[in-house]
Amino acid sequence: MPLPKRRHSKTRGRKRRTHWKLEKLNLAACPQCKQPKLPHKVCAICGYYNGRQVIEIKVKEKKKKAQ
Ligand SMILES: [Zn+2]
Repeated sequence: MPLPKRRHSKTRGRKRRTHWKLEKLNLAACPQCKQPKLPHKVCAICGYYNGRQVIEIKVKEKKKKAQ
């Protein structure tokens, strides 16, 4: 088993990890509902992709209070 000869300092490890970050999401407007969606993905709001409905969206209905 290889072993590191010397321990690296906290600073050294942290400096290396300064490049270790999330990239900003690339959002495009859905041509169907105009809501932001991820490119090359089915729209989560209307379920459309490439001009047709691909998945059915279950709409949560709010519970109506008894009047
Ligand atoms: Zn949509």
